Amino acid sequence: MPYAQAIADEGAAINRCPPGGDEGITKLASLLSVPVLELDTSCGAHLPLRVAVIDEQFCIGCTLCIQACPVDAIIGANKFMHTVIAADCTGCDLCVTPCPVDCIEMVTVEPARLWTTADATEARLRYDKRQSRIAEMTAINIRTEAIVESEIGKSVQAQAEQQSTQPLAQKNTDKQAVIAQALARARARRLGA
Ligand code: SF4
Ligand code: SF4
Repeated sequence: MPYAQAIADEGAAINRCPPGGDEGITKLASLLSVPVLELDTSCGAHLPLRVAVIDEQFCIGCTLCIQACPVDAIIGANKFMHTVIAADCTGCDLCVTPCPVDCIEMVTVEPARLWTTADATEARLRYDKRQSRIAEMTAINIRTEAIVESEIGKSVQAQAEQQSTQPLAQKNTDKQAVIAQALARARARRLGA
């Protein structure tokens, strides 16, 4: 997607997509009414489709590969083993570099085959779904932070109003109770968001 945007918005060359190869370049040239170019091999070679494979015995469950995968093709959880869903992997390599223990390897799909239009369509759908999920989670986090800040502000104000009239021990106990209540309310709202 960023490359497509760069072509559309910034005039990036149409020959910088190794997975698309000559067929992709020809389609882009036709779509944009520009000359066909040879693949820029400094971006990589047009190879048979590869997928990522995690050597699970070395995985430390850091989740960095999940965060890097643009199509949600990796499953796992913090401090648990991760694995790649081969059928959903586009072979983009983006998960390889972030892995701190180098336990992700790219292997050629057997039997070897090239990237197809159907693969591209499926990958685009998965990418769009991931972007929607990230946008939704970001919106929820922003709302939650605003609520927590508001509740903490209210509790601080309430505490200030009580300070002048209560003994110190009672003030501390009340302060903790008010903050605990504020956080509980914020948590309840977040779960209901
Ligand atoms: S190679 Fe790309 S698509 Fe496949 S698992 Fe790694 S980041 Fe995801
Ligand atoms: S980046 Fe590597 S170590 Fe971390 S979860 Fe993924 S495969 Fe495991």
